[in-house]
Amino acid sequence: MKIKNNKNLSLATKAIHGKHLHAFKGPVTFPIYQTSTYRFDSSDDAVRYAKGDPNVLVYTRYHNPTVNEVEERIALMEDGEAAALFSSGMAAISTTILTLCKNGDEIVSTPALYGGTYRFFRDTLTNYNVAVKYVDPNSLEDLLFLITPKTKVVYFETPTNPTLGLVDIEKLVKLTRDMEKEFRTKIAIIIDNTFATILNQKPFDFGVDVIVESSTKYLGGHADLMGGVVIGMKKLIHSVKALAKHLGGCADPFAAFLLDRSLKTFELRVQRQNENALALARVLEKHHKVLRVIYPGLQSHPQHKLAKKQMHGYGGMVTIEVKGGLRGAVKVCDSLKVAINAMSLGGVETLVSIPVYSSHVNMSNEELKKNGVTPGMIRISVGVEGIIDLIEDFKQALSRV
Ligand SMILES: *Cc1c(COP(=O)(O)O)cnc(C)c1O
Repeated sequence: MKIKNNKNLSLATKAIHGKHLHAFKGPVTFPIYQTSTYRFDSSDDAVRYAKGDPNVLVYTRYHNPTVNEVEERIALMEDGEAAALFSSGMAAISTTILTLCKNGDEIVSTPALYGGTYRFFRDTLTNYNVAVKYVDPNSLEDLLFLITPKTKVVYFETPTNPTLGLVDIEKLVKLTRDMEKEFRTKIAIIIDNTFATILNQKPFDFGVDVIVESSTKYLGGHADLMGGVVIGMKKLIHSVKALAKHLGGCADPFAAFLLDRSLKTFELRVQRQNENALALARVLEKHHKVLRVIYPGLQSHPQHKLAKKQMHGYGGMVTIEVKGGLRGAVKVCDSLKVAINAMSLGGVETLVSIPVYSSHVNMSNEELKKNGVTPGMIRISVGVEGIIDLIEDFKQALSRV
């Protein structure tokens, strides 16, 4: 039985079985093709490949069975036509953008972006004469004048880092489509869905064209691999892969194998992270050393209604502001025993980081204000540990402030 494009199976079933939902002889797990190159049956194979035969394997930068298996599973999980796997999230993002934009084109983006993406837009794309304009997510109507006939991409993230603000996906898509009609152009709407993941937010249901994700985070989930993925229509993924051959950000077979292993527990892990995050957020909201808790699942989140509309779960990221400013935040992070003070997110282990020391380091007070970031903020990537252990850990660390 082929389950390709069967939307009704659960995320876990798709992740565990891929399209092999049949009596499949051989190994239960998909093997690692840890090889850079492939034997030709005869020199005819080289000719067949040159003529475009997709069944001839040539070189791992072009294709690899382990990598391709993971791509198929992720495409199934995310209800996309196809996916391309990369060596990192940034490789996936930069290759996708460079596939879609050429000299003279424009991008409209929301301003709260992952730092690497923001710097790629600011420092690299400008060298190729691709301009990026920013739209305030609170006035998405501005898309009506920011989008021009040169706009090829509308790019956004939601929830954003580290203040967990939301962008109204339905509204962004509608306004972009209106402008497309007006100019008779084609605009690719791209979401970075790393924070929410496909369990909590299904962008294709809202008409988004392309999902990019750092699989280093929730998809990988164990802080032991780097990867990135782009999911979309076959035609686009084909072009992305063609450019990836030149840019070279291909996934390594071993990293792909680790990711395959991670996907099987993805639903379990992220469900638990959703539960832990909500429970921790509720406790911290009542704590006298905590000034503010930002979590889309809390009634107190200014966009809670929008969160309920466009998210199925609220994710594992919680941001708090503690008393005592930066000194208070440092004290808490250095006193935690279960939670680890480290960059990154999405793993089974709870991590904390201080935005003014990490994602927003070296920013002026004005920039921090614009981004809503304060010195006393701590970003928590909630893991799958026992919730009681986490609550106790944060209580003892907060008591030192
Ligand atoms: C980490 C991250 C990236 C970049 O991914 P890498 O795998 O580190 O290259 C992009 N977007 C978001 C939202 C991220 O958290």
